Amino acid sequence: MLIVMRHGASPEEVSAVVEAIEQQNMRPHLYRGEERIVIAVVGKAPASTLVPVSPAAAGRLNPELLRAMPGVDRLLPIARPYKLASREFIPENTRFRLGRVEVGSENVLIIAGPCSVESRSQIMETAQAVCEAGAHALRGGAYKPRTSPYSFQGMGEEGLELLAEAGKKYGLPIVTEVMAPEQVPQVCRYADVLQIGARNMQNFNLLNAAGSSQQPVLLKRGPSATIEDLLMSAEYLLAQGNRRVMLCERGIRTFENATRNTTDINAVPVLQQLTHLPVLLDPSHSTGEASLVEAIARAGVAAGADGLIIEVHPDPGYALSDGQQSLTPEQFARLIYSIRAVAQAVHRTVA
Ligand code: PEP
Ligand code: MN
Repeated sequence: MLIVMRHGASPEEVSAVVEAIEQQNMRPHLYRGEERIVIAVVGKAPASTLVPVSPAAAGRLNPELLRAMPGVDRLLPIARPYKLASREFIPENTRFRLGRVEVGSENVLIIAGPCSVESRSQIMETAQAVCEAGAHALRGGAYKPRTSPYSFQGMGEEGLELLAEAGKKYGLPIVTEVMAPEQVPQVCRYADVLQIGARNMQNFNLLNAAGSSQQPVLLKRGPSATIEDLLMSAEYLLAQGNRRVMLCERGIRTFENATRNTTDINAVPVLQQLTHLPVLLDPSHSTGEASLVEAIARAGVAAGADGLIIEVHPDPGYALSDGQQSLTPEQFARLIYSIRAVAQAVHRTVA
């Protein structure tokens, strides 16, 4: 349910409504819009904050009482199952700062780097190259979800240290995957953005842990997940009070096997209609093939993506993971050049 406050409702009136919600052990989520304050009431409060209420009143809100409170304009239901992620709750795009760009603004965010951190020289060289080409953030996996247990599993904490060192040297925020709830505190010490990978999109314990860390999160769509599944997973992050969430289309599994995955380009504008969260495209995983990455990156920006995440490796032929879809630094620099032209054509920029 949405409680829409009157234009100019006083802070005391807002606090009284928030308190009334908390008194019923429900959790209020406040949004300060340009015009007015809207309070979403979804689900129960966390166990740690429960107040004693009579069993009959617990978890129930009396709409008549709320509607009659000073400063309340009207109550509205939220039709979508993803409440906090929906545009019904927040009509404006979510924006937040990441390094030198504002995610969700007209500026298209470019995240680039290797699939995996492999060595100090590899990550340093890549960071320098992507920085010089104009990337805004550095990606690299230290914990890798691999299909085979015999494949390279990542460098772990050593990889995180190297990423942080490279990020600091080149002034790039770090985006890296976290695979388990227990890893969240450690990864938060090194990373600016927690990546939740496609295979973990519905790992609800991980979503809760990443959400409650309050660190920005990049949530990738599962290869077999519907758009609604993705938004419901985002809802877990938002329900923990974490507002800095980005979504990422990274290709889905279809009957087509000419490419590693099928880029669901529809997902970009569909998501943007349904949610206020920034929507990124990962043309590296969605195609699986370096020679296709630039074309699909351009398509993503043309379709309105708020950002791209792209795999770059100094020597893709020797990469320990995803070499086939990794661009060389030269290819990445060319991609940025052509993305700038497409961005301009759709009234966006690549700062
Ligand atoms: C990755 O970014 O390297 C990765 C493993 O991506 P995904 O989770 O989309 O497969
Ligand atoms: Mn990869």
